[in-house]
Amino acid sequence: MYAEVIIDQDAKALDKVFEYIVPNDMPAKTGMRVIVPFGVRMIQGFIIKLKDTCDYEPSKLKKIQSLVEDFSAIKPEMLELMQFMAEKYHLKLASILRLFLPSEMREGKVKELFITKYSLNKDVNIQISKNAKKQIEIVEYLRENEIETSAKLSELFGGSAVKALFEKGAILKQKEQIAREPSFDSQSIKKVNLNQLQLKAINTVSEDKTYLLHGVTGSGKTEVYMNLIERELSKDKNAIMLVPEISLTPQIMANFKSRFGNKVALLHSGLSAGERFDEWKRLFSGQARIAIGARSAIFAPIENLGIIIIDEEHEQSYISESNPRYNTHDVAKFRARYNACPLLLGSATPSVESYEKAKSGIYQLIELPVRANGREMPKIQIVDMLGEIRLGNSGIFSSQLLSDLANVINNKKQAMIFINRRGYASFMRCRDCGYIAKCSDCDVSLVYHREDNRLKCHYCGKQFRVLDRCPQCGSENIKHGAVGTEKVVGELKNIFPDVKILRMDNDTTSTKNAHQKILNEFKNSLPGILVGTQMIAKGHDFENVTLVGIVDADQSLYQTDYRSTERTFQLITQVSGRAGRSQEEGKVVLQTYAPRHYVYKFVSNYDYKGFFRKEENIRETANFPPFSRIIRVLFADSDENYVRDLLKLCYNDAIKLKEKYPDQIIYMDAMKSPIKRMQNKYRYQIMLRVKLPQADAIERDLFDIVDKASKTSVFLEINPQNLS
Ligand code: ADP
Ligand code: ZN
Ligand code: ZN
Repeated sequence: MYAEVIIDQDAKALDKVFEYIVPNDMPAKTGMRVIVPFGVRMIQGFIIKLKDTCDYEPSKLKKIQSLVEDFSAIKPEMLELMQFMAEKYHLKLASILRLFLPSEMREGKVKELFITKYSLNKDVNIQISKNAKKQIEIVEYLRENEIETSAKLSELFGGSAVKALFEKGAILKQKEQIAREPSFDSQSIKKVNLNQLQLKAINTVSEDKTYLLHGVTGSGKTEVYMNLIERELSKDKNAIMLVPEISLTPQIMANFKSRFGNKVALLHSGLSAGERFDEWKRLFSGQARIAIGARSAIFAPIENLGIIIIDEEHEQSYISESNPRYNTHDVAKFRARYNACPLLLGSATPSVESYEKAKSGIYQLIELPVRANGREMPKIQIVDMLGEIRLGNSGIFSSQLLSDLANVINNKKQAMIFINRRGYASFMRCRDCGYIAKCSDCDVSLVYHREDNRLKCHYCGKQFRVLDRCPQCGSENIKHGAVGTEKVVGELKNIFPDVKILRMDNDTTSTKNAHQKILNEFKNSLPGILVGTQMIAKGHDFENVTLVGIVDADQSLYQTDYRSTERTFQLITQVSGRAGRSQEEGKVVLQTYAPRHYVYKFVSNYDYKGFFRKEENIRETANFPPFSRIIRVLFADSDENYVRDLLKLCYNDAIKLKEKYPDQIIYMDAMKSPIKRMQNKYRYQIMLRVKLPQADAIERDLFDIVDKASKTSVFLEINPQNLS
């Protein structure tokens, strides 16, 4: 028999199938990991196919040396998924297969955890000297308790007595594998009676297609997810549920754990290597039947899926933007199709792309328009910061926010202050009239680049001089930059010296469990203020939070991206959803320099549909996704001359696509990337915006073109989230 093997190596030249002979006595199966001779070395590979004949000269083939383990680590579904991803994203086969296994397993670093136990050997009758008191005690102990761990016996009676008994054959040793399970706060959850809308939602999700669950914050989506999963478990099926950043949403985990116990396995980057490996094995063996985790949990080794759920489906983190690049939605759709099960996308603020699909009938829309506990959505008050400046207040906080904060503190309640810090780019804004510098061609905000003191457009590469005076009102008070969390905390401490003020951002949460510590501390602080970035926007359910302050809502509005407005809408809706979740009414104070921007009107009325219609209109007129596709072909190499030549070569071919696909290419140009050098690699790019009908074909042709670039990393990014 012969095997087709993929070598577990990154080199592009090795990205193909190699043939090996399977020795007669080797119980090889498809999907198994093997050790094979390669050149002068032995390396690891994967069997992706077994066959009776070979395509190559048999006498030249080498034999598989050994099997890594006696089971197929890669299941048939995953082999098909590999093919799908290779075709769709042009990824190397080995790099896809790696996604399917915990890295610990590939590197062989983590050993399974065993404990040793002893019991009496009943087949023999061994005399123990009367002087060996400890040994006699052990025998008596084991007569009573049947079996005990080595550690416990040694603790009670001493290690040497245990050892002596074992050597005599009086006791038997056995090893038991134990799974390391990640710990987290479990909490008793209240069992709720589902309302009519929730029941209807659950009943609707029945076919093998994609559903979009649009439910306002607090509408009880989590209950819907849990009940759907329960239903599938009762049919002997399994489930995957994805959440954007699991470390930020310990509550969801606690809920699931108390409902489903050890049927749940957790897969995310915050686990230790051993924990991740054990959770993976519990899923692989079928002991655990629900995989919950961030993006990579979509590759969980579960068979017989009954449902796949993607919570907060609009989140950027579902798109992998470093190698291997993939979109979790695509992978989820593949697995749902393969298992003939429903895919449920849930969000309070669906992405424009997904909602467009629901509108055109590709997804089925399900709506939960009110909060499950009957509470009103918190009122959002918009404060014009330019007006504050005119009144002589040029500080970070408006007088409205300060007086509302004082109220919260008097009532011994809590507030969250949200600082909008998407990415690190900054834009130029006139402090007097609110003017923002934009690209003359693309109508997106320009980004300030410190290294060459210029403003740049991230879509077309056009550069502009830094402004020293506002073209709209003539003011010289025109600046770039953003407020940071530290500064906000500092000022708050000055104003409210006796109040507990906590900070949550990248700096304060770099250590393990730091999130949880801060959140716990906040929970117990009455009154208390939590200042944070995006991290505090999601999921949290604090019953005493009655006020949310958004310091500078515009920060993401003028990011340099066609999705800026959409993101602003999503973020503000998310953070606002943190207020007034329990008995007290909640309020949101939203500070902005652009109070008349349409996004604020819609967001303060919780009018997602109105927002969507407006946004859809703008995107359609401006030819942005989902009405077109943006493709970035990114070249990166440590040799700048090489990468520049390569870019030219590819661009000469790419430009011919304009003739091949007349009227389909809205825009195409070659340029340096906004960040010219990253991790010691020079970055160049071809940017395209293409119409949809031929977008797939153009993508395929681009893949063919860049394949010439064998030595370098060349990536195709589709509707990239980040254009730096
Ligand atoms: P979402 O995920 O849609 O933001 P959650 O699932 O977190 O909302 O639910 C918000 C709150 O409403 C939770 O405290 C939850 O226990 C409660 N809840 C959910 N369903 C019901 C229901 N049918 N009746 C009463 N309370 C409910
Ligand atoms: Zn101005
Ligand atoms: Zn531009």
